[in-house]
Amino acid sequence: MKACIRSIRVLAVLLALLAGGASAYSPVALAQSAAAVQSPEQFFGFQMGADRKLANWDKLQQYYQALARASNKMRVVELGKTSEGRPYLAIFISSPANLARLDHYRQANARLADPRGMSEAEAKKLITDAKAVIIQSFALHSNEVAASQAAAEFVYDSITRADEEATRMLDNVISIVAPSINPDGTQMIADWYMKYVGTDHEAAGLPWLYQKYSGHDNNRDGFALNLPESQHLGKLMYRDWMPQAYVDHHQMGSGNARLYIPPYAEPIRPGGDPLVWREMTLYGAHMGTKLEAAGKTGVIGSAIYSGWGHMGFHWITPFHNIAGMLTESASARLATPMFMHPDQLRGGPRGLPTYETQTTMPSLWQGGWWRVRDIVEQQKIAAWATVDLAARNRETMLWNMYLKGIRQTERGAAGAVKAYAIAADQHDRQTVKKLANMLLASGVEVHQTRGQLIVEGKVYATGSFIVSMAQPKQGLVRWMLGRTFYPDNTYTRDLEGNPIRPYDMSTDTFGEFMGVKSDPIGVTVTGDLVKLAANVPMAGTVAAGAPNGYVLDGRLNDSFSAAFLLLDKGIAVRRATQPSSDGSVKTGDFLVAAGDVAAIAKQTGVDFNALKAPITSGAFALRKPRVAMLQRYGGGNMDEGWTRLMFEQFSVPYKSIMDVEIKAGNLESKYDTIILPADSIAAMTGERPPQGQGGGGGGFGGGGADNTPAEYRSGFGAEGVKALEAFVQKGGTLLAFANAGDLPIQRFSLPVRNIVSGLPSKSFWSPGSTLRVNFANSNPLAYGMPAEGLALFMAGGQVYAVTSTDRSQDVEILATYLDRDILQSGWLLGEQVIAKKAAAVSVKHGAGKVVLIGFRPQHRDQTHGTYKLVFNALLNGPQGAAASTTTAQQ
Ligand SMILES: [Zn+2]
Repeated sequence: MKACIRSIRVLAVLLALLAGGASAYSPVALAQSAAAVQSPEQFFGFQMGADRKLANWDKLQQYYQALARASNKMRVVELGKTSEGRPYLAIFISSPANLARLDHYRQANARLADPRGMSEAEAKKLITDAKAVIIQSFALHSNEVAASQAAAEFVYDSITRADEEATRMLDNVISIVAPSINPDGTQMIADWYMKYVGTDHEAAGLPWLYQKYSGHDNNRDGFALNLPESQHLGKLMYRDWMPQAYVDHHQMGSGNARLYIPPYAEPIRPGGDPLVWREMTLYGAHMGTKLEAAGKTGVIGSAIYSGWGHMGFHWITPFHNIAGMLTESASARLATPMFMHPDQLRGGPRGLPTYETQTTMPSLWQGGWWRVRDIVEQQKIAAWATVDLAARNRETMLWNMYLKGIRQTERGAAGAVKAYAIAADQHDRQTVKKLANMLLASGVEVHQTRGQLIVEGKVYATGSFIVSMAQPKQGLVRWMLGRTFYPDNTYTRDLEGNPIRPYDMSTDTFGEFMGVKSDPIGVTVTGDLVKLAANVPMAGTVAAGAPNGYVLDGRLNDSFSAAFLLLDKGIAVRRATQPSSDGSVKTGDFLVAAGDVAAIAKQTGVDFNALKAPITSGAFALRKPRVAMLQRYGGGNMDEGWTRLMFEQFSVPYKSIMDVEIKAGNLESKYDTIILPADSIAAMTGERPPQGQGGGGGGFGGGGADNTPAEYRSGFGAEGVKALEAFVQKGGTLLAFANAGDLPIQRFSLPVRNIVSGLPSKSFWSPGSTLRVNFANSNPLAYGMPAEGLALFMAGGQVYAVTSTDRSQDVEILATYLDRDILQSGWLLGEQVIAKKAAAVSVKHGAGKVVLIGFRPQHRDQTHGTYKLVFNALLNGPQGAAASTTTAQQ
């Protein structure tokens, strides 16, 4: 039987090659090609998804290259390298004739995606000679192991199937497959799993992050595009191809439905074109029908995953006018089969109240063995249904693309907010430019003012940015720059009225994360504007003739970057503790000795202005900081990983340390500051094993007892707590983010408490919101911050009250929530609980201090607006000075 199928496939390949163009007529080429199109099973020696087998990325990419050499229906393009230097691939699948005109179709597609100025007649003409473009990505979350394996079979089937469906697909669709959008993790997980398969440690979770910086959070980067992997996919999707649909294939927990398919459950995030939501329903219906026809049970839509999610690729794409979707299969234990009894199957969140049939899940899976092969088959059918629907409805999908672009542009032009204006000369003008560049990276149109511009009575300096809403991606602009609120209704509260946690954050307003103000404008902005064609340049200047040295603006994040580089080079840097009499130096500015600074100015974009007069007092010298950050096993800590990436971007010198080094003590001899990224006491000390990446323990990796090999368990225990306290008492700084603050508060008996700890959600609730705070910016720990700004508060965050009167003087308050109207964007219940309370404090403890930042000052490498609080804690303040004033400067 198998041989028979193979010969049919060879025949199919021969027929396809004959149809494919002149070169295929060469008998030599024909023979070679036919012999070389190997099935995954032939190439890897096992069927994709076979029990206890995983192909790693090294082999998978060799396979795709081999297929591309043998087939004229696919082309492999390396989009760039991954975080760890592996090739990041996109595979273009279509008929040979289409592949020969790939750039022509790309341009036609781009024109339909931004159809401003195009008549309906022109659009219809263009559509006759355009192809539907579909992007599907696999294996983003590496411990959801099936997708990297399923992609190989999907690609193979796409180029070898010769039935009517396949022919139609190749003729009508450009199917772009990103076979692993985290190749590093695909390699890590397969190698890890295969190392331990057959031992007591089989299917143990990977002890570290499966993406160098982000781990499971790698799908929270669809706008910031911090990771190289996101940059590649972002360019492919938002700028080069703008597909009509995008599907990302994932796995979920093991305990309810077998497969989630589109559309999403309630609530949805508004502001996208309604057609995208209708299209998702169409794709989901086609997937569901194909899956049911193939006898796959337990497939559910309109459930579990709400349409208001994070700004990862599949959830942000609707605002690019792309039907952005995901599938989520029930997991096994990595590649190890899992047995489920019927009574282990339950209802699920959002739209599956009990485990019974319903219109969105007409057949039930009855339990039994669940294998990676089951997932591979589901994903193949869902992926095929996606391209099949587009092939059957090519004209409709392309016409929809035109309509979406036209209508979103019209809505933007007619809306109350017609544009956002971003002033060039606000607090951190470098970060303003970074925001503009991020918008460009997402394919948003941005204009810059060439001279001073007055809009609605406000003067905008030269170089300010105007983002018009009269553009196809206005939905995205609205979520990135506008103030936004999470809905509070029956979809977001349970039957007892308790708020239901959003899938991720309750706001994603990027301008607010970055500390950059965007003004909503109610009129059409006209004036001397130039459309940005490339990134705003950020090379800094160096003043000629600076006998007193230079001054760097302490309000810029990049000035800290420059300071770290200067200190590394041995150039003297001081920090001003008061303004100069002529106003040219502000408190917190950096004073730099004369020296060779040109390269640093260029690299950081910071202007090195001449210091007008020597400054002999009112400044303290900086030393090159000795920074350590805690790293742990147990799946790794994503907050730690993102912080590393932020440190690399800002040239912060640091060393990652683990439990062994902490327990050894004598930390003060090596480090000035030790950072505890957001984490629980249990995860840091090892008193309880931490939750794995992806959380919930529901079958992503281990499930059940933790069978991690002993050498990959970590936790510094009571001994480490003692060593950390000794480090502080001898003069060190311990910097803790969010819930990591529990460790010093509880174990060092600090004179503060977290006042939101243990509060019921009805009393206090802020799941990823931007909150308004005052910063005590005359304190060196808050130098460079504005007097008022925003803090990103997440579940598990902390708010502080001083508990002791005899030690009250040891506490300095660095940031305080406003007395009212605290919520900027997101969702906040119980505002009065935190009004006027401390958001960040520094507590003197022995000769050193503990800095507690109760919110997320560097969340996912996105909250640029509060990075300076982190940097300040690394730069040792004035020796012995009790800079305790809380007066803010403007
Ligand atoms: Zn996932």
